[in-house]
Amino acid sequence: ISLANQIAAGEVIERPSSVVKELVENSLDAGALQLVVDIEKGGRRRIRIRDDGAGVSKDELPLALARHATSKIASLHDLEAIQSLGFRGEALASISSVSRLTLTSKPAAQQQAWRAWVEGRDMQAELAPASHPDGTTVDVEDLFFNTPARRKFLRTDKTEFNHIDELLKRIALSRFDVRLTLNHNQKSVRNYPAVSPAQRIDRVARVMGTAFTDHAVALTVEAMGLKLWGWVAPPHACRHQADGQYFYVNGRMMRDRMLNHAIRQAFGDRLDDERVPTYVLYLELPPTEVDVNVHPAKHEVRFQQAREVHDFILQSVREALQAGAE
Ligand code: ADP
Ligand code: MG
Repeated sequence: ISLANQIAAGEVIERPSSVVKELVENSLDAGALQLVVDIEKGGRRRIRIRDDGAGVSKDELPLALARHATSKIASLHDLEAIQSLGFRGEALASISSVSRLTLTSKPAAQQQAWRAWVEGRDMQAELAPASHPDGTTVDVEDLFFNTPARRKFLRTDKTEFNHIDELLKRIALSRFDVRLTLNHNQKSVRNYPAVSPAQRIDRVARVMGTAFTDHAVALTVEAMGLKLWGWVAPPHACRHQADGQYFYVNGRMMRDRMLNHAIRQAFGDRLDDERVPTYVLYLELPPTEVDVNVHPAKHEVRFQQAREVHDFILQSVREALQAGAE
């Protein structure tokens, strides 16, 4: 097993949910509209993701597992304009260096499905014909089987699964058009059917619970090239909700001090030690106005006009809460 790959894996692949994140992003990049996520034993035994996306051709299967083969960042211009969720070009190589990974795929234009996996110290890719509908399955077994130190950092199956569940919620709230299914140990845990724009509240209810949607106020505000839309609920409505804060910037989930500050200020004295703000909000602005790759793992974001964005969010959320209280 290549040491370089394992070091890279250590940076990206911290726990089962990190694997799920990378695989789901790949499926979405491939245009998938249906995703089935099968987890066994919190992901330490198995993480398997099936999609109906564009697939990987036989010739490209070994490349997909090779490090540095697919980096999409060709220039600084690409980096600035980056819209795609994945950009490192080595997630599969990293994951396959710390697990038993197989990649099975069939592009619609290819008659036969093929399966690839890597074996041995030099990560040579093996190929065999397989049976698979149009799309791709990535099967990750025995995560960290060869890195005991990392394995020791894993928590209970339940905790690891909860991380995956939370990750899927974040994705469910960013891609209403994609059907997501999550199973744990052969049991169905979540099912998020695809919804049209007019039915988005149905998915929000599935993710956030009806305690949120029953009390939520919808908002859509546009000004100065900024658009903020989504739902906010007065905090008393869901004070038992452990995690009810979702903020997306141009489709990507962010957790950022400036954004938090604007929202907390908008909630004002509605908040106290027990009551946290609950919201599902989407900020849209020109990509040149924002850098969402400052620190992808920490979900931080940098705006050209930070003050204006802050005040826009503050005003919009405050007015929505006031309107909801009337
Ligand atoms: P990156 O996504 O940054 O290119 P990855 O290591 O995550 O790097 O994936 C390598 C390549 O494998 C992708 O660029 C893509 O061509 C292919 N690939 C991976 N997963 C899928 C999938 N689910 N459907 C289609 N192609 C995929
Ligand atoms: Mg990727």
